[in-house]
Formats: sequence, structure tokens, C-alpha cells
Amino acid sequence: MHILICGGGNAAHTLAGLLASQPDNHTQIFLSIPEEADRWRRGLALSGGMRVRSRDGERVGNPRLVSANPQEAAAHVQLVLLALPAFAHESVLRQLAPYLEPGVWIGALPARGAFDLCALQALGETAERSVIFGLQTLPWACRIEEFGQSVQVLGTKAQVDLAAFPPDQAGAISQALTNLLEVRVSPIANFLSLTLAGTGQIIHPGIMYGLFHNWAGEPLGEAPLFYQGVDAFTAEVLQAMSDEVQAIRYALQEKYPNLDLSAVRPLDQWLHLSYGSDLLDTTSLQAAFNSNLSYQGLKAPVRKTAHGLEPDFHARYLAEDVPFALVALRGIAEIAGVPTPKIDQVLIWAQERLGQEYLVAGRLQGKDITASRAPQRYGINTLEQIFQSEETVSYAQKE
Ligand code: NAD
Repeated sequence: MHILICGGGNAAHTLAGLLASQPDNHTQIFLSIPEEADRWRRGLALSGGMRVRSRDGERVGNPRLVSANPQEAAAHVQLVLLALPAFAHESVLRQLAPYLEPGVWIGALPARGAFDLCALQALGETAERSVIFGLQTLPWACRIEEFGQSVQVLGTKAQVDLAAFPPDQAGAISQALTNLLEVRVSPIANFLSLTLAGTGQIIHPGIMYGLFHNWAGEPLGEAPLFYQGVDAFTAEVLQAMSDEVQAIRYALQEKYPNLDLSAVRPLDQWLHLSYGSDLLDTTSLQAAFNSNLSYQGLKAPVRKTAHGLEPDFHARYLAEDVPFALVALRGIAEIAGVPTPKIDQVLIWAQERLGQEYLVAGRLQGKDITASRAPQRYGINTLEQIFQSEETVSYAQKE
């Protein structure tokens, strides 16, 4: 298959080595920052291919092209994989759109919230002759070892959900990705499920809140463990956020009985499905986080200042997961009329840390909504708009 990987970080390193190691693929990399493309080319020349190390061994694959030129990168590709933080989705899609050929599959891993709305808008006319898809999460926990040369896969999920628009394409894309990614990819009914079910939007801001809501500026001795640092208080926050997502799910299903939101799972179910035997202790939500082998050793984001270490509130756990996921979820809750007090508490704390404004006086009306993935940003303010507008029909299967 002719594949274009967009991005140069941890996920792109993993995809590059894995997909280029499979003989039937023609794998290319698009990096919109030319200096990053140079670093990739230098790294690959030194190492002779991207090395992907995991508990199962090592794979090496050498992509055929690394380019910062969207026209060159997009030529003849059948599959585009956005392995990027969500804040880069829109600009990368806009760069590639003029050069993509009809019938191309374009997807993000992970999708984060409202990726369908973002892609439909950014791709313009190209969206009409493409299939858009998103994965509920990245199949791996992975970290670059040597830039452009090697990456370590710390854990691989047992299965990952995929939504597509048009929805009837989800099965074919899931089958192809199951073979390519060597992870079970399961088709789900609609993109709305992904917007509600993106667990990063709960886990990342929820744990940041749990770890640092009482932080008063004192230097940290060292970066605290992130997932293993989940204590009883944080587990309660995560549980309450997950319960609120379920309340949104059931309110929507009551109103639209034909709407399939079965992929919007409670957090503990999602952990079991994704991590399986990597969870050594499943007696409680806290124990599941603390004992997950895929999470071992991962630290909270911190930054060095003149006064010592302090939490990095601008790292992606807030800077990506809040505007591009939690705010989208909160937007659906607002439209559905479902109260979300715990999500609001975490969101208000997080937006203050980020210096941004989304939730004001209990409504998504802050000035930074325009740069978020809230459905309201795309002009969607009612359930009828979600389910009836042709443009957003991806939110529900046509009956
Ligand atoms: P990363 O931070 O390593 O990605 C950084 C790369 O993104 C950069 O090297 C650059 O190529 C690209 N990029 C950043 N800003 C850009 C911009 N403005 N324009 C164009 N390109 C830009 O991220 P990652 O770890 O590869 O993660 C990719 C996605 O997967 C993110 O959404 C992340 O939250 C998610 N995720 C990652 C992991 C993991 O273990 N790495 C696990 C779960 C989910």
C-alpha cells in the first residue's frame, strides 16, 4: 500500500519503522517543518532505517521518502496517517488537500474530539472524494530513543476502535489497519462515539488535576510518576468524569434510540479492553492505573525554571487534550443539556493553567472557543444540527 505518515514525533517514528518494514508498503513521511525533515533524513542515513524496539523484539524499516513538500509527499498515496498532536491536524490537512487523489483514506491516530468536523472543513472539496477516519487512541505508548533513528514501544493496546465517514467504510479500513498496524482495529458506528469516548480527555487532564490542583508554586523535588501517581482522590475524579460521559451517552440514546453509542465505554472497561493482561491488578480503578505495565515509569510533564522544577501546564496533557478533546466533549454535553460538574471543575482549573477561556458562567462561550474543536465552533448548537445537517451527518448513521 502507498502510505503517507504525517508527523515526526513518537508515533510517527513507530509507524515509520513498522510500516516500512512490511515489504508490500511504499512508505513516505511528510514533515511540514523543513528542519525536521532534514533531521529525519540525517538520522535515517546514520542508522540505515528506523528501529522500533519493543518487548517482542526489534523491527527496522526505511521509508522511501521524507519530504517537507506537500505536493511531493501526497502524490499517489492511498492512505494518509496523521500521527500528530491534534493542534496540527488542521494545518497539515490544509497543506495536503490540493494534492490528494480521489478515493484516499485520511485518518488521525488518535482522532481526539470532532476530528470529522475539523477534517471536513480543512479538506474542503477534497473531503467529498475521500474517506475520513479516526482511531480512538494511539495503538502504542512509545517514546523516541534517537531522533530519526530509533523508538521504544513501551506497550501495545490489545484493540483500538475506528470510526469513518462515510460510516460504511469503517469495516474495510479497520481490516486494512489491523494488518498494517498489527493491532486489532474494530469498526464502530460513528464519529460522535469517538468524540465522547476519547479517554485521553479524561485521563490526561484528570490526572494533571489530581496531581497538581493543590500546587502552590513550590519547586518539585522530581517529576512525579503520572499513571502510577494516581491516588484515591485522582481515581475518584476520573471515575466521576467517566460517569458524566456515560450520562451524556444515555441521554442521547434515550432521545435517539437508533443511535449506536455502544463504543462509549466506562473508563474501567476501556482500560481492560485496551490493556488486557498488562493490568496486573484490576481490583479498583486506582489499582488498574498503578499496575498497568504499559504505563510503568511514565512521568508527569515538568519544566526547569530558575526556582527548580515545576509542573508543565503547557504540555500536551492539557494543551492538546483540553481544547481538542475535553472542550469538544463538553460542547456535546451542553447541546444535550446534560450537567457535567466534575468535568467543569477540571476544565475550569485547566483553562486557568493554560491561560485560556472556554467555559464562562457555565457555558462554552469563552474567547478561545474559536481555536478549539467544540462543535459550537463549527456552528453546531442543537441536537437537530448534529443529527440532521448533511455536513455533520457523520455523527449518526443515516437510517
Ligand atoms: P509528539 O509530541 O512526539 O509529536 C511531535 C511532532 O508533531 C513534531 O515532531 C512535529 O512533526 C509534529 N508537529 C507538532 N506541531 C506541529 C505543527 N504545528 N505543525 C505540523 N506538525 C507539527 O507526539 P506523539 O507522541 O507522536 O503523539 C501523536 C499523537 O498521539 C498525540 O495526539 C498524542 O497525544 C497521542 N498519543 C501519544 C502517545 C505516545 O505514547 N506517544 C500515546 C497516546 C496518545
